[in-house]
Amino acid sequence: MKSGRNFVNLNVNPCKVCMPLGAATAFKGIENSVVIMHGSQGCSTYIRRHMAAHYNEPIDIASSSLNEKGTVYGGANNLKKGLNNIIKLYNPGVVGIITTCLAETIGENLQGIVQEFATEKPEESEDREFITVSTPGYGGSEHEGYYAALKSIVEKITLKKTTTNKKVNIIVGNMTPGDVRRIKNILEDFDIDFIMLPDISDTLDAPFSMQYKKIPAGGTKIKDIQEMSDSCATIEMGMFVGDEISPGKYLEKEFNVPLYKCPLPIGLGNTDIFVNLLSFITVKNTPIKYTKERGRMLDAFVDSHKFNGEARAAIFGDPETVYSTAKACFEAGIFPVLISSGTKAAGIEEMLKSEMQYYFEKHDEKTMIIEDTDFETIYDYIKQLKVNVTIGNSNGKFITEKEGIPLVRIGFPVHDRMGAQRKVSVGYEGSLSFIDEITNSIIERKYSTYRSRMFNKYYEEVPQ
Ligand code: SF4
Repeated sequence: MKSGRNFVNLNVNPCKVCMPLGAATAFKGIENSVVIMHGSQGCSTYIRRHMAAHYNEPIDIASSSLNEKGTVYGGANNLKKGLNNIIKLYNPGVVGIITTCLAETIGENLQGIVQEFATEKPEESEDREFITVSTPGYGGSEHEGYYAALKSIVEKITLKKTTTNKKVNIIVGNMTPGDVRRIKNILEDFDIDFIMLPDISDTLDAPFSMQYKKIPAGGTKIKDIQEMSDSCATIEMGMFVGDEISPGKYLEKEFNVPLYKCPLPIGLGNTDIFVNLLSFITVKNTPIKYTKERGRMLDAFVDSHKFNGEARAAIFGDPETVYSTAKACFEAGIFPVLISSGTKAAGIEEMLKSEMQYYFEKHDEKTMIIEDTDFETIYDYIKQLKVNVTIGNSNGKFITEKEGIPLVRIGFPVHDRMGAQRKVSVGYEGSLSFIDEITNSIIERKYSTYRSRMFNKYYEEVPQ
């Protein structure tokens, strides 16, 4: 496995987005919550812009607007003013206060500032949760920010265990609102009592309404988060989540709630893991609907193998999406010649090799697996490895423009297509639509380049 570029401190076209963006997404899935970023305005603008383009929703993220004075003498006053304004404007139940590179570099004591604010403004602070999360942009990517925020939310809100009930905590990965709705459908079909954290299904994909709501309806209820300690199990989607930022690990350690980890349920094997876990924890049979969907997926693999067998795919993005997508591709006969993550994905090669041993052995050619890399490196390998289909977020679209190689979009951000927020790639049916999209891109490319390839192969140009 390669680990990014050979040059230290040089990242050309990052294949990731920054840590506070992940934290902001997590807070958007909590009922009646708002986010304020402690730092300069540009950070909040960048995140709002990216999220608004991906989700096609208005995205409000406040900023403490640190200026030169605040940077030199400390930004406590800016943050307190910001908190005061945000409370007046939104009257939120939860305020997520997240840091940026600047706030972390000058060593701001976030919790101390929030405590001071609570003492100075007791009325404004009453019946409100202030949750601070350390998210310097250089501390990781959206992946770490997302889980770090979820862990802080659980740490702050979950109450002591009083009993053990039959509820199952579902910590969903950073997926689309459409995906989250599909996961909820599966849980409902199983007739499972669950607590989903976070729940962006409505907050980041709200139905049309004539009246503008400052905080969109939906999200995980505070009461539900308080009771997560009483649940009989936690399923946490995420194979690359360190224990220090894992909400599931925290619930296990503090309240003895058994933790089951699973990958994002993209593809047949990954969906099997999720569905079998539900069945095992609740001692319920898998609904026949899903047995049929699984069978259809297998049937579709047989139908499309003749096209998929021609694929030389490059996959890029966040580690969870990349890992699950790579497994799904192997299963469908789409050979990934390049698997690359823009952030650290410790163990991804070993995990893929042990789980996909059969596929790895079947191919003489080795799959190149790179973590913590950038688009410049990915682009170099795409050319070297003669890739004919790419799978990842919209930031890789320049490869289509330069090389004519199609891009099947998944992950974050998808800002150059409509419907990214509604797209479903999880569960048997969702995964199959996603795989069909890859297959159709392979077919499309094959027929759009067929004549020129044949001409070049069989006809030599006659000299004039
Ligand atoms: S990387 Fe740092 S400076 Fe840039 S947007 Fe993220 S938090 Fe702000």
